[in-house]
Formats: sequence, structure tokens, C-alpha cells
Amino acid sequence: MKRTFPVIIILISLSLFGLLLLQGSWLKNLLEVRESQLYNKISKDGLEVAEGLYKSVYNGKIMRPRKGGIGGFNADFHLHLLKPPSIAEKFTIAEVEARLHKVLASGEWKSLKFEFAIVSANAEYEMVSTHFEKDFSDSVNNKPIIIPILPEADLSMDEIASYEQLYIVIPNYKSQVWASLKWIIIGAGLFMLVIIAAFYVTVRSLMNQKKLSEIKSDFINNMTHEFKTPLATISLAVDALRNEKVQANPEKLKYFSGIIKEENIRMNKHVETILQAALMDRQELKLNLSAVHMHQMLEQVLENYQLQLQDKNGEVVRLFNAKNDLVQVDDVHFANLLSNLIDNAIKYSEDAILIKVSTHSTSKQLLIRIEDNGIGMSKETVKRIFEKFYRAHTGNLHNVKGFGLGMSYVKTVIDAHKAKIRVESIVGKGSSFTVEIPLMKG
Ligand code: ADP
Repeated sequence: MKRTFPVIIILISLSLFGLLLLQGSWLKNLLEVRESQLYNKISKDGLEVAEGLYKSVYNGKIMRPRKGGIGGFNADFHLHLLKPPSIAEKFTIAEVEARLHKVLASGEWKSLKFEFAIVSANAEYEMVSTHFEKDFSDSVNNKPIIIPILPEADLSMDEIASYEQLYIVIPNYKSQVWASLKWIIIGAGLFMLVIIAAFYVTVRSLMNQKKLSEIKSDFINNMTHEFKTPLATISLAVDALRNEKVQANPEKLKYFSGIIKEENIRMNKHVETILQAALMDRQELKLNLSAVHMHQMLEQVLENYQLQLQDKNGEVVRLFNAKNDLVQVDDVHFANLLSNLIDNAIKYSEDAILIKVSTHSTSKQLLIRIEDNGIGMSKETVKRIFEKFYRAHTGNLHNVKGFGLGMSYVKTVIDAHKAKIRVESIVGKGSSFTVEIPLMKG
């Protein structure tokens, strides 16, 4: 797991990068092909229109300038044939535009935009569309295509020069090509996003798996330690009890059997904690609600810690300021919750512990605050404190052991009561936990 994880990430990243590169070059090629496709289409369709225009002007006749000049004309020669009619004389701009539009803006190029002009044989504009001149002058963004208006395609260059020409300009040529590929580009982008999202989800779940396996091994280590210590103590106490001298001394008998009982209680507590956590995993907490005076409950919980506090030279300050302390709670779970908070306040403090338990009531809520002057927590710990199995490294408090389950239990009980809990803490100064619970109505 340790080595495969980075390998998987590198492999997926590489394939993602490769895919991106391939897609990029594929799109680039597609754009180039599409550009030349459009150019060919306009050249071909433009020629078709040009031929149409020519035929309409000259009624299908092919007008070749005479090789021998005008020397040999006869009686049939009409003056208008000397100077043949131009396209501008026969057609309006709108008519030419309509012809162009019909062939150019067709099929997949329905929204193609173009400007055009008809230029006479002596290079003068006969007819120009609205933006032609502006667009024609910008050859960077716009694509000009020049089509001679000829009767047939295979005339020599000399001959072409004596005919009119159709100029077509495609404004914003590249953008129009891009726009025609809009859906392909959007589709490719979307699929890429899907692949990236899948990659993200995979990596995240892999990381979660990794974290879980770390948590599991931490938990097993912790548990082994937590059970090994009382078992070793019990074993030593039993050895002592087997000693005849000890058996003869009732004082010592009481002392060692007391140790066994204490360690037994400790192990039972651990088993309870683990079972509780396992139970909470499988089902939501079922509450057995009853009306409780919170001040009474706090007193009872604090009483249980009297001895422990005395041992550690600790003191509890009670500031029960709430005018109303009647709430509806599950008395077992809520008392456990308070015990967990007090237990931690003692566990994560060095000597001369000062715990402040205060209450305060508003019109609808009861606030219970438990403050300690202990080791405090970093911002990271405060953020993660309610995570199952989370334990901060407690620095020099090596003796502090636990499973990291207490606070996640607290959060479950808080949520089940639709209450809130707020944590504030400063490293080295202490922590405070504020529970906010709705007061009983009426
Ligand atoms: P455990 O005490 O078994 O480690 P908890 O879930 O009760 O697990 O607490 C999780 C972690 O939160 C503790 O390991 C500790 O780092 C931190 N913590 C909880 N309460 C306090 C407190 N009052 N002061 C400092 N740290 C605390």
C-alpha cells in the first residue's frame, strides 16, 4: 500500500497528461483541417456564384476580348459590345449577396459571416458590402479570397486580368472556424472534466483508505497498550497474592485485591467505550428523553471526579448562573457526554488543575461551559477533535492514553439532542467547550 499509492498517482497523472496532450494536438489538427475545408468551400462555391453571375450578365455567351483588337468589326457590331455591361449594372448588392448567401452559408456553415466586393477589370470597386473595406484591410484576422468572374475555369492569367473579380472576405476567420467546432470542443472539454473528476475521486478515496488503515493500526496499538498495562498489573498482583507472606497479612491482601478490582474496572471501561463506538457505527443513537435539571446532573458528574481531582491537586469552580436549567435529555447519554468533557479536562491538564463549570440561560437556550487550564489544542486539533479515532500528539504528557473515541461520542450525543457544541482553545493556556441546548418549553 505504501509504495503502490504514489505509483498509482504518478501513473494516473501521466495518463491524464498524455490524454490532454493528445486531445490538444487532435483539436489543433482538426482546426487546421477545418480551416482549409472552409477555404476550399468558399473558393469552390464562390466560383459557382461567379460563373452564375457571368452567365446572367452575358446571357450565357462567352465574351472573349478579341485578339485582333477592334480593327475588324463589321456592320453587325453593336456599340454596347465594345464595353460589355458590368455586374454592378445588372445586379444590386442585395441580389449578389443573396446569391452568395445561398451557397456559402449552407449546411454546417449556416451561420457563416462574409463580406464581398465586385472589382472591375481595371481594379476599381463596382460594388462593396457594408464592412468590406474595413475587413479587407485587416489581413491578420480576416481571410480574403479572390475569385475571377469567368466564363470557364481554364483561362490563362492574361485573359483573367481582363475580367471582373469577386472578392470575398471572411471576418474573424479563425473564430468562425472555432465556432463551427463549438460542440466538439465543449464535448471534449466535458469528457476531460469527467476524467479529471474521476481521477480526483479515485485519489481521494485512496487517501481515505490510507488514512483509515493508519487509524486502524494506531487503534490496535493503542488498544493493545491499554489492555496490556492492566493485564500486567493484574498478573503482578496475582503473583503477590500467591505469596504466603502476603496471604498472612490481611492489609496486603486487601491492597492487592483492590488493585485487581481497579484494573478490572478500567478494562471494563475500555470495553464499554469500544462497544459504544461500534454500536454508534451501526445505528443512530436512540434517545430516552426525560426532563432533567442540568445543575443537578452537573453536580452528580462532578462528584464522580472528586477523588481523581484531589489526586491531581485539582479544583472545580462552579458558576451555575442559569435561571432556568430544565432541559429534555437522555440522562445516561448526556451524563456520559459531560463525563467525557470533564474527563478530558483532567486528562489533558498538568498539575494544579482548575476547571470552571458555568451555566447561563437565554430565553430559549441553556449554555453549559466547561473550561480547563490544561495543555490546550492547536487549530488543527480543534478542527479535527470530533473525528473518530483522532488523537493529537500530547507532547510531554506521555501517560495520557485513549482511543480517540470520546469526542466523537460527544458529537453524536450533541447531534442527537439537536444541541450545539463550540470549542475554543489556546495551546498552553487551556480549552473551553460550550454546549448549547434548547430549554424545555413552558
Ligand atoms: P482520547 O482522549 O481518548 O484521546 P477524545 O476523543 O476524548 O479521545 O479526544 C480526542 C483528542 O482531543 C485528544 O486526544 C486530545 O488531543 C484532544 N482533547 C480533547 N479534550 C481536550 C482538552 N480538554 N484539552 C486538550 N486536548 C483535548
